[in-house]
Amino acid sequence: MTKPFLQIRGIRKEYGPVTAVHDVTLDVAQGEFLTFLGPSGSGKSTTLYILAGFENPSRGDILLNGHSLLSTPSHKRNIGMVFQRYTLFPNLSVGENIAFPLKVRRRPKAEVDAKVREMLKLVRLEGFEDRKPAQMSGGQQQRVALARALAYDPPVLLMDEPLSALDKKLREEIQHEIRRIHQQTEVTILYVTHDQEEALRLSDRIAVFSKGVIDQIGTGPELYANPATRFVAEFIGDSDFLPCDLLRAGNGRADISLGGTAVVANVPFHGQPAVGGRAALMLRPERLKLMRSAPPAASALAVTVSDITFLGNNIHVATETAKGDGLAIRLPFGHEAISSLSRGDTVWLGFDPASAHVFC
Ligand code: ADP
Ligand code: MG
Repeated sequence: MTKPFLQIRGIRKEYGPVTAVHDVTLDVAQGEFLTFLGPSGSGKSTTLYILAGFENPSRGDILLNGHSLLSTPSHKRNIGMVFQRYTLFPNLSVGENIAFPLKVRRRPKAEVDAKVREMLKLVRLEGFEDRKPAQMSGGQQQRVALARALAYDPPVLLMDEPLSALDKKLREEIQHEIRRIHQQTEVTILYVTHDQEEALRLSDRIAVFSKGVIDQIGTGPELYANPATRFVAEFIGDSDFLPCDLLRAGNGRADISLGGTAVVANVPFHGQPAVGGRAALMLRPERLKLMRSAPPAASALAVTVSDITFLGNNIHVATETAKGDGLAIRLPFGHEAISSLSRGDTVWLGFDPASAHVFC
């Protein structure tokens, strides 16, 4: 285990009666790309602003290399920041914008000039030095903002939804740039987004925010394969949920009944079992196996096909259980079952219990 570089310890932030952040604790390794992912209002920006020193926490501490940052004013924390938009000085040229943090730090002119050139090269904007921000596209402006934030070699870079004002194609292009720059500079990045795809694309680890707390922290594959809460399961990847009855639960596994004879044993289980309680079975649409006839296994579920949608490289099959619960399946294009499948058909769905999850 590498020693913690940045430690966020029990951070809470209250605005009068509103608690924006309840309790956030996490360690960030040096050079890591860690993303705060969550819906609007879940406390991501507030946590970032506390790190930047724009806000003080109501409780908790932040340590960089073992030293508390809280008594250090924002401009002395050496933390770079890129916001959603409108952060360049409109009256300064691109070069002057990038030079600004170095001039504030009274670095010699030769060093400033060299650094501006290096940063323009890093964000691939050589030759744009004399332009004004208004003469550049949104994507170019964000690359200048990135260059300015990195110009004084901050050990930590914070980015708050920096791409959300850009269209999809440009966003993907700049995601690629950000990844490259992260690999090249090895700066530690804390990144905020509400877009799961962006989080998966960029991050070493993702912290999933919900209502001012972190529900789970892990790599994308970890969160996808083993979501700790229903919220994480719904937020990362696609998911189906079916109501079910708990027959037995313990040691992180449960046996459940889906009604009738459909019983599934040994499914990974999360939460507090209520006696005789209802629970939700989570399945991933691409992990379901579609069968045209009833298999011997009791765990297969009979459903009726309600819709078939072609989505290019995969096919979405909407189905309904006898009780009327919807269940989506995703099949790769060319799957043998597709050509003969029609609305109203009865099919059977099988799944590996280890790939499913039960939430209480
Ligand atoms: P996110 O970035 O995840 O969308 P925020 O951290 O901006 O969420 O906000 C979390 C919660 O705190 C929201 O309910 C928001 O309305 C509230 N909040 C944020 N800043 C303030 C503030 N300055 N005054 C009052 N409430 C605030
Ligand atoms: Mg925000």
